[in-house]
Amino acid sequence: MTAIQDYAAVAGEDVINHLRQLAAPLQGLKVVHVNSTRLGGGVAEILVKLVPLTKELGLDAVWEVIRGGERFYECTKNFHNGVQGKQVPMADTLLKVYERTNAENAEELRRILEEADIVFIHDPQPLPLLKACPNRKGKWVWRCHIDLSHPYRPVWKYLRKFVVDYDASVFSLSDFAQPLPHTLYLIPPSIDPLSEKNMDLPESEVLGIRTKFNIDPDRPMMLQVSRFDRFKDPVGVIRAYRLAKTFAPSLQLVLAGGEATDDPEGEAVLAEVRSEVNEDKDAHILLLPPDAHVTINALQRSADIVVQKSIKEGFGLTVTEAMWKGKAVIGGNTGGIRLQVVNHHTGFLVNTPEGAALRIRHLLQRPERAQEMGLKAKELVREDFLITRHVKEYLSLMVALIYGDEERVELEMKPHE
Ligand code: UDP
Repeated sequence: MTAIQDYAAVAGEDVINHLRQLAAPLQGLKVVHVNSTRLGGGVAEILVKLVPLTKELGLDAVWEVIRGGERFYECTKNFHNGVQGKQVPMADTLLKVYERTNAENAEELRRILEEADIVFIHDPQPLPLLKACPNRKGKWVWRCHIDLSHPYRPVWKYLRKFVVDYDASVFSLSDFAQPLPHTLYLIPPSIDPLSEKNMDLPESEVLGIRTKFNIDPDRPMMLQVSRFDRFKDPVGVIRAYRLAKTFAPSLQLVLAGGEATDDPEGEAVLAEVRSEVNEDKDAHILLLPPDAHVTINALQRSADIVVQKSIKEGFGLTVTEAMWKGKAVIGGNTGGIRLQVVNHHTGFLVNTPEGAALRIRHLLQRPERAQEMGLKAKELVREDFLITRHVKEYLSLMVALIYGDEERVELEMKPHE
């Protein structure tokens, strides 16, 4: 497990000092994070780091996961799609399952939740837990990771009834915020530069990954890493690849994904992807286990082109991960991707498979430009999207929640030697 001090080498000694100063008034604070999956997807990816680091800084932080049956996940996937603007069914029976499942989980979690000083509820799945904890003593925060900018109204109207009881909400982007009767905070996500997913790898491991998956090391490869979810537009990626192949016939495609345990639609999307790929030997679909971090790391490093052609994206950690590896990402012009991909500087924003294909051609033909943009991309991540900045913002938020305006932590700057 990485120690907080190890991050000084990447983020700077000052950053670590600030974290310790911010954590000083929060020692022993009981903090509980709740989401609905321990594996798969960006939220789990963040919590697995954020919780141990806040613990190391002296807070009493834990991560709990709610559990549900098939119908629960069917309902919450509908919410996920509805929040991101899709018209979805809202059957009463499913809503009952959602509320009942949360009530059942509350039976197990009530004591820890009611005793906590701060509870962070991630995304819509565990939202009703608050109603089931009438004797709560702490502050409750709803942390929304998805794009709430244009929700399907009936879904938001229903979910909002739960959200209004919270003390605060956190969104990744200002565009996602909705009018709510409490304080809203903006905290973009982050990656851990020292994790298996992002750490430096020996050249042999990067080269070896292609052989392992029968990808030709001598021909260009484009990559998208993501769950098989329609918002990630894997079929659009295949179309972009096909178009790009007309001028770069040697191009190979890798779609690497796995399933999140709380995503029931993955199989259907995967079937669509398989049928779109058909017999193409240069298009590789890799189904990876949820702990294939080093494999994904090596694929991202080995890729000549990285795309994330989402049509909706809360943030897009896969974009951050690739940028950290010096890649100029071709990303869908949406949500959190826009925060990271500065068009023509750290990558390209695209709206269509045709647009993506043009950018693929551009980067394949001009590798020096790709490299130059990739370096800028890495610096942007170092500045804004590392876990140290993320922990700092969570600590500041907790100071604000616990002490209000009474306490300000003045950060001491150590003079540079
Ligand atoms: N991921 C993974 N295996 C997969 C697909 C994705 O480990 O098969 C990781 C990916 O590297 C990233 C996270 O899951 O860290 C996905 O986060 P992102 O914000 O891109 O999308 P989300 O799945 O949360 O919508």
